[in-house]
Amino acid sequence: MPGLMERYRGRLPFDDDDPVVSLGEGTTPLVHAPHISQLVDADVWLKLEGLNPTGSFKDRGMTCAVSAAVREGAKAVICASTGNTAASAAAYAARAGMTCAVIVPEGKIAQGKLAQALMHGARVIALRGNFDQALTLVRALADDHPIALVNSVNRFRLEGQKTGAFEIMESLDELDALAIPVGNAGNITAYWKGFGELGVAPRLFGFQAEGAAPLVLGKKVDQPETVASAIRIGNPARWEEAMEAMTASRGDIRAVTDDEILAAYRLLAGREGVFCEPASASSVAGLLRYGAGGARRIACVLTGHGLKDPGTALDQAGGVIACEPCLSAVEEAVLGGGD
Ligand SMILES: *Cc1c(COP(=O)(O)O)cnc(C)c1O
Repeated sequence: MPGLMERYRGRLPFDDDDPVVSLGEGTTPLVHAPHISQLVDADVWLKLEGLNPTGSFKDRGMTCAVSAAVREGAKAVICASTGNTAASAAAYAARAGMTCAVIVPEGKIAQGKLAQALMHGARVIALRGNFDQALTLVRALADDHPIALVNSVNRFRLEGQKTGAFEIMESLDELDALAIPVGNAGNITAYWKGFGELGVAPRLFGFQAEGAAPLVLGKKVDQPETVASAIRIGNPARWEEAMEAMTASRGDIRAVTDDEILAAYRLLAGREGVFCEPASASSVAGLLRYGAGGARRIACVLTGHGLKDPGTALDQAGGVIACEPCLSAVEEAVLGGGD
């Protein structure tokens, strides 16, 4: 499959002869979730955005943002990141032959994402502060230097990410609601744009983690805290756009606890066979907590792959069973004691 810039060129702000930096992103699976459907009494589908080239939906935006940066003649890209933007920017910059710097909150990004950014050769700066401070700093830096800022304040990011909505509507004839995690609020804004361009208007159910829920509280959170590190954000850059989308779609923005997020995370892996990262599971956690609200057909955006965050997975999962190399011991280990 060609990347999404080729597939949707007519609906993106690029001309035929513009440069394209692509890793074959998009065209991710939309799978029905029978168990969750039963629990919420609606038909629920999972959009597996973890199957993008770097393992998150950020690649949809990054192919456009980095291609636009090349078109503008930029030699370097920069972003603040809770992890996935860094991994994606680093990969697309490597592909484009550009240098890349990423600023992440020290000690607060999942291990897989850090490994990606480093492997792709980005300059990784661990800020002794949080994501919101990192974003303020990179915005100031990008104003003073010829470096392209590739956070979702960059409009090309939203253009690329709106294609997630296109793909869902290519698979489903009708959609009543979209459940989506909300951090910096770029993705929910992008989906609403995409649906709008198709002339459809599913309700948007946005979910934030309780310890990082500025849109729910209606005020900034100075010290956001949650196990879902990808949405540990206290002052979303796309605040107004997200609230407008929510209102226009007759949707809602609500909070889920870390325990609810982790329960949904385990349920998705254990019952649906889908391993996503904790932030992604907040979309399903929200549906389980608040119900389908009368919607019959719902798509949940599972934003990133479970392998991004092996630390949380190993904390949440059962342990391994040690075993001596003899048949009786293996038998007991495999079949369990007692039977
Ligand atoms: C970036 C990210 C989000 C949040 O998306 P926003 O556009 O910042 O609201 C959610 N989940 C994962 C896995 C992410 O990487």
